Amino acid sequence: MIKNSKLPNIPTSIFAKMSKMAANHNALNLSQGFPNFPSDPALNALVDQAMRDGFNQYAPMAGDFELRMEISEKIENLHNHFYNPDTEITITAGATQAIYTIIAATISKGDEVIIFTPAYDCYAPTVELFGGKIVPIQLKPPFYGVDWQEVADKISSKTKMIIINSPHNPSGTLLTKDDMLELQDLAEKNDLLVLSDEVYEHIIFDGNIHQSVSRFKALAERSFITASFGKTFHNTGWKMGYCAAPKYLMKEFQKVHQFVVFCVNYPFQKGFATYLKDANHYLKLSDFYQQKRDFFLHLMKGSNFKIIPSKGTYFQMLDFSEISNESDITFAERLTKAHKIATIPTSVFNEGKRDFKQIRVCFAKTDETLAEAAKILKEL
Ligand code: PMP
Ligand code: GLN
Repeated sequence: MIKNSKLPNIPTSIFAKMSKMAANHNALNLSQGFPNFPSDPALNALVDQAMRDGFNQYAPMAGDFELRMEISEKIENLHNHFYNPDTEITITAGATQAIYTIIAATISKGDEVIIFTPAYDCYAPTVELFGGKIVPIQLKPPFYGVDWQEVADKISSKTKMIIINSPHNPSGTLLTKDDMLELQDLAEKNDLLVLSDEVYEHIIFDGNIHQSVSRFKALAERSFITASFGKTFHNTGWKMGYCAAPKYLMKEFQKVHQFVVFCVNYPFQKGFATYLKDANHYLKLSDFYQQKRDFFLHLMKGSNFKIIPSKGTYFQMLDFSEISNESDITFAERLTKAHKIATIPTSVFNEGKRDFKQIRVCFAKTDETLAEAAKILKEL
């Protein structure tokens, strides 16, 4: 034991915990968010080829230039905002490293950072590691909408940053254009930075449009975007992603990035640089996952869970209040051990671990797995 743990109250992440429990009890694993189908063999072959072509030494610090150009083009085509590939994009070891690096580069002792809970688990501990203070705003089921007056009320002279995440993990909700305009207004008025976690940018349903911060000029000027190839290309284990931000912010980001990893996997970057040239590889993802969501919801018809269809991400919230009054953690553990299905209890992402009796399932699974899962869940 060391004397002064920097994170004395942080347990092992719920994702590690539930995946381990699923393995120990031989349960279907719909907990941690990853697909159980393969990464595209054509993409795997590109990575393999890059290794054969000798891209096995350090990549440029900010990442392969060809890949940064592809990302710049993708963002410009989708959101009509130009990020200079030379100075405004860095390739990272997944979104997690990008988030860590952004916070390390910008948050100092005493700075306040507003997050919306339920929040992805890495935001708060990382802010705390650098002496920042989390100011949580609790979103409430079933719709998890943001009350911007509440946000305005929580902003103080110490607020340095707001972290947003749309499409939202775990609720599967989206920020709308109006939300983004409210955010832009507050960020400008209060001179705030924005960390926009857009890892589910290409998984968005029912014809909705992803409202990236890059679509809003004044917001883009004060925002970092984080993205994850793992989520988009079915290979979360590769841990590849990127950060896009205006030059003055990217300069600070890279000062830290060079000492966190210096650079990330070269052959994977080369593989993605070629793969991204075909926009269908990401533009078809929403349809692909919408079919999965609809298939799962169809199978769940008549179940005792209350369900509001997810609008984005590959997660679906299930309200079990009519099934049990156990805590969500007890319920999820019982499901894993007794019913052989692992899910995520979502209270762990809430302010004060508030329990709304919601578990999260990941539907990035084969139809066979979804059918098996629905069969178990419907019997509850
Ligand atoms: N943010 C959110 C909201 C996530 O769900 C995840 C999980 N993929 C991450 C960040 C981290 O992404 P990566 O696996 O690329 O580090
Ligand atoms: N993003 C994934 C999820 O929400 C998990 C990533 C991780 O295991 N850290 O389930």
